[in-house]
Amino acid sequence: MKLQQVSGNCFAVLNEKNRLCDANSGLINRAGGVVIDTQSDLAHGRQMIQMFSKVWPAMPQRVINTHEDADHVWGNQLFEGAEIIAHRSVPERMKHVADPKESQKLLHGVGHLLTRLVFKTFHPGIVAAGQQLLEDYNFDGIELVLPTTLFDARYELDLDGTQVHLIYVGPCHQVGDTIIHVPKERVVFAGDVLFRQCTAMGWTGSYEKWFQCLDLLIQLDPEVIVPGHGPLCGIEGAMEMRAYLEYIRDESKKCFDGGLTSLEAAKRIEFGPYGEWRAPARLYMNVERAYREFRNEPPDAPWDIAATFDAIYQVAKAKGIKVEY
Ligand SMILES: [Zn+2]
Repeated sequence: MKLQQVSGNCFAVLNEKNRLCDANSGLINRAGGVVIDTQSDLAHGRQMIQMFSKVWPAMPQRVINTHEDADHVWGNQLFEGAEIIAHRSVPERMKHVADPKESQKLLHGVGHLLTRLVFKTFHPGIVAAGQQLLEDYNFDGIELVLPTTLFDARYELDLDGTQVHLIYVGPCHQVGDTIIHVPKERVVFAGDVLFRQCTAMGWTGSYEKWFQCLDLLIQLDPEVIVPGHGPLCGIEGAMEMRAYLEYIRDESKKCFDGGLTSLEAAKRIEFGPYGEWRAPARLYMNVERAYREFRNEPPDAPWDIAATFDAIYQVAKAKGIKVEY
């Protein structure tokens, strides 16, 4: 992890490995400080706090969660007494998608030899993802701390004269997707609406909605965007991701019309220039999302996580690349 100054008062802690759960955090260092997203486990949360403490005078009084995913909210408990701000949907969604007990059980299972052998027979993807997570993360001790200040379309903060706009853009990657715009400093904290140099993983929402959101990022004309995952970028980051999603949707359509399953399609579609990104086999999720739309399924249809991770595993194997999430 590294600390990077983004503008006069904006900072980021970036998770350079850029794999599953390696989310970024932000800081707007005005009026007592606002932290954006709190990392995937307590050790990373503490490391983030320690890094930000080099520039802030005291623990921040406010936290923003850009959405409900575990890797953005599991350090919330480290900010005792802070106001936690998020979209209205986030608390309920967190209870479903960021229940720490499930992940704790899974990692203990994967860490345990016998369970690992049983898992491996049926779900090689779960074992591979779990082993990767065990290299960097420990989910023990995490308790859900839910946002306390909720908003609908938009929320504004005045940090001693610096305006901060929270704009609800979901559902495009998750239900609660929110971007944070600091116009005076020309900075946007994008959360997982933007993945940079790693393959996007989207859970709910539609392609159209995601395109609209990326277009908004471009329209806001920031000098710097802090993505949810990956290094800092400018609007070219949003443009590249839009081009990637368009490419995957178009290729998926051809495969869908040709009668292939989403897994067959994901194995067939060329990575193209996006093969350079981290975990390119995660493309399966984007193909499956496109298929859901072609089949007119609801955008919030639940995912079978084990089957999804297994499919990503199979795509990586079929392409002859390292299995990585
Ligand atoms: Zn994330």
